[in-house]
Amino acid sequence: MHAVAEVRANVGGASPHQITIHSQTPTPGLAHASSLQTNRMDLDQRLVDAAIDQMDRRTRTEAAAVYLNDGSILTSVCLDNLNAAATLCAETGAICQAYTLGASVTASVFVCKWESSSGFSILAPCGICQERLMLWGPDVQVGVADLEAASGWSARTLRELNPFYWGKHFADGDTWPSSAVHAS
Ligand SMILES: [Zn+2]
Repeated sequence: MHAVAEVRANVGGASPHQITIHSQTPTPGLAHASSLQTNRMDLDQRLVDAAIDQMDRRTRTEAAAVYLNDGSILTSVCLDNLNAAATLCAETGAICQAYTLGASVTASVFVCKWESSSGFSILAPCGICQERLMLWGPDVQVGVADLEAASGWSARTLRELNPFYWGKHFADGDTWPSSAVHAS
């Protein structure tokens, strides 16, 4: 429940936590993403900062943030439960809320910090969250750990992360299954 509540707090106009981005910012590590649309919101430091802010607001060690196609940001945290099978990844709340809003996710980042360190890490989404993000196509960007980058992270598209995505078998005349195919 906490994950969804935090997401709602971030889309409400009166929320101090709402972050709306009106301009695009050059994104480090996107040399591989040549097929980006011009109106999409690229994964950048502001999205990372939004995830970190969310993590700190809830005094958590993990959080996620996503850009929507209108430039707004949703954030969420992991759903905890005594039954590990009932837990949800940090991205899940924001992904579900984006879908509820009828919006498209253009970028997603997951941040975590280790108890023994004051820093944080950016990790690629797990396999299940990759599957969830596939709903919005192969050009959705995700943050990945990148030791060669000065920031320690860079962005990759889902196509780069999973070039042999199984769902391509069900592409309806394109190279990737559409949102309609996912919903069928
Ligand atoms: Zn996940």
